[in-house]
Amino acid sequence: MFKAFLIKYAEIGIKGKNRYLFEEALVNQIRYALRNVEGTFKVTREQGRIYVFTEGEFDYDETVEALKTVFGISGICPVVVLEDEGFEKLAGEVVSYVQHMYPDSHATFKVHARRARKTYPMDSMELNCELGGRILDVCPDMKVDVHKPEILLTVEIRKAIYVYSETIPGPGGMPVGTNGSAMLLLSGGIDSPVAGYMIAKRGVKIDAVYFHAPPYTSERAKQKVVDLAKLVARYSGPIRLHVVNFTEIQLYIYDQCPHDELTIIMRRYMMKIAESFAHQDGALGLITGESIGQVASQTIQSLACTNEVCTMPVFRPLIGFDKQEIVDIALKINTYETSILPFEDCCTIFVAKHPVTKPNLNIIKRSEKHLEEKIDEMMETAVSTAETIEVE
Ligand code: ATP
Ligand code: MG
Repeated sequence: MFKAFLIKYAEIGIKGKNRYLFEEALVNQIRYALRNVEGTFKVTREQGRIYVFTEGEFDYDETVEALKTVFGISGICPVVVLEDEGFEKLAGEVVSYVQHMYPDSHATFKVHARRARKTYPMDSMELNCELGGRILDVCPDMKVDVHKPEILLTVEIRKAIYVYSETIPGPGGMPVGTNGSAMLLLSGGIDSPVAGYMIAKRGVKIDAVYFHAPPYTSERAKQKVVDLAKLVARYSGPIRLHVVNFTEIQLYIYDQCPHDELTIIMRRYMMKIAESFAHQDGALGLITGESIGQVASQTIQSLACTNEVCTMPVFRPLIGFDKQEIVDIALKINTYETSILPFEDCCTIFVAKHPVTKPNLNIIKRSEKHLEEKIDEMMETAVSTAETIEVE
């Protein structure tokens, strides 16, 4: 029944001359999302609107699911496309559309005709009245409400005629690629995939770094992170995932520094290494899944210590979220099931029994002095030996 989709996009952060770029990026992202969906699609931009037209057979559910992953889309309206074969034919089609979509309905409605083709013999007011009347004739339980209708039936007169009334919510946000790129510190936990999703939602392309510690952490733990990256990539598009071997550095810190400071010192080196990948990939910021007070390494004092090594902005989109709020998003974007698989994480293996919760930066820096001899070289090795996986 539906042969096209009208794509609604609400927020255009970059207005004026740049609106064009935003719309073009949205069109590209829609094409990308549909590339593996069964069917032939034509995505067009006309008069400030974006349509997805289908040709021949296509999988409706898959198409809608794919469109729901495109940031920048606020709503997806399935459209019935009719040839213009005169008003009588149109009225018949509109009535059967309503009967089909809302059988036995007691809802209120309003017809909203838009005449993009000005040569059509009736104007929009006449169309509204005539079509509304025809609907009332066959659906006596429905009522017209021009102010707050439950069903808004739009009839657009163009070269063809488009009829639609339903809006499926899109993910919102801005098309990926319109806001630069950032480097996500992606662990196997619940939080960091959600953090990546949220920043990508603002139009940012993301790449990622994962620190693993073989043989303390397994191949399966690494595969879990690759799988999480794949799930995030459904929304964000392709992610370059840098897998860093962190074992040597962790053992060195474990040897040289007080154990209650391990996590903080480790975090600081993770940030530094992540920054060097960010520089390599042209990313302008880092992203973490931290949230104030969630664990010892995320108290205000700990975050301040971690942040102190960073020279680029660190985006922490979950900073004010409760765990349950993060879980709700993880469930929505389908990363939760994977995140809770019980594989060891490099941070949990070297974790102290009683980690500092209020680290003092001067003391941390003094402890790090014990690492001076070898740490720079070790960091260089960690960066140069990292494995890069292109995740789609
Ligand atoms: P998550 O669910 O994201 O793992 P968490 O509650 O387990 O979060 P931490 O383990 O303290 O929190 O990590 C805080 C943040 O540090 C993570 O959200 C992530 O951005 C980063 N991080 C931690 N461990 C790693 C790792 N092994 N590789 C890459 N980033 C990491
Ligand atoms: Mg973690």
